[in-house]
Amino acid sequence: MKAPIGILGAMAVEVEAILAAMDLREVQEHSSMKFHSGTLSGVECVVAQCSVGKVNSALSAQVLADFYHPRAILNIGVAGGVGPQVRIGDVVIARACVEHDCDSSALGYSMGMLDLPGREEPVAELPCDAHLSQMLLEGAEKLYSGVHFGVIASGDQFVADREKGKWLYDTFGALACEMEGGSIAHACLINQIPCAVLRTISDNANDDSKVDFPTFAAQSAQKAQTLLQSVIRSL
Ligand code: SAH
Repeated sequence: MKAPIGILGAMAVEVEAILAAMDLREVQEHSSMKFHSGTLSGVECVVAQCSVGKVNSALSAQVLADFYHPRAILNIGVAGGVGPQVRIGDVVIARACVEHDCDSSALGYSMGMLDLPGREEPVAELPCDAHLSQMLLEGAEKLYSGVHFGVIASGDQFVADREKGKWLYDTFGALACEMEGGSIAHACLINQIPCAVLRTISDNANDDSKVDFPTFAAQSAQKAQTLLQSVIRSL
C-alpha cells in the first residue's frame, strides 16, 4: 500500500467534513489523539484533530511521522488574514511558515529565528513543499475568488488586534496568522516530510475577530475540505 497522506486540523470543525467524506477503516489513539485511517477520493490518508496550538500540532505531526510514515503532511484550517489584500473567505497557501512568538531577540536573533536539531544555522522560515503547494494553488483558483501564496505566521495566540496583525505583516511579510502551521512545518522539516499548510480566512485578525470567528470558521473549514478533495489525487 502507498504511504498515506497525513491531514491535520486543530478544531473539530476542520476535520469533521473530511472524515465524513472518507471511507474510514480504522481509528487508533496515540498521545490522546484519534488518528483515522482510510481513503479520501481513493487516496490513502490518516486524519487527526490535533487541538489548538503549536505543541499539540507538533506532537500530532510527530505521531504521524513515527507511526504512519506519511509521504506528506497537510495542515488545513482557518486563519486570520493579515496581508493588506487578504479578505475573509480567501485562501492562503503557505510558501513557508514562521513561529512569530519565538523570541530570542535578547541574544541577537531576529524574531521567529530558532535553532533546529541537526542544523548549524538558525532559521526563521520553515519551508513548505513546492509541488504540494502548487497543486493546492491550482485547485484553489477554481474555488476561491482570492487566492494567496506566501508566509503564514503561527503562534500560541489568537490575534485579535490590528496592530499585532500589522506587525506580523511588516516583520515576516505574513499574509495570515494561526496557531499550528509553523509547528507542523517545523516537525516536518526535522522529520524530512514534505508538508503544506492551507488556511481559509475566517477573520481579519483585528478587533472584530472574536465576533467574526464563530460565524466564518465553519463555512471556511467546509470550503477547505472541498478543495482538498478536488486535489488529493494529484498530490
Ligand atoms: N477553542 C476555541 C479556540 C479557537 S483558536 C474554539 O474552538 O473556538 C483559533 C483557531 O483558529 C486556531 O486553531 C488557529 O489556528 C485559527 N485561527 C483563526 N483565526 C485566528 C487568528 N486571528 N489568530 C490566531 N489563530 C487563528
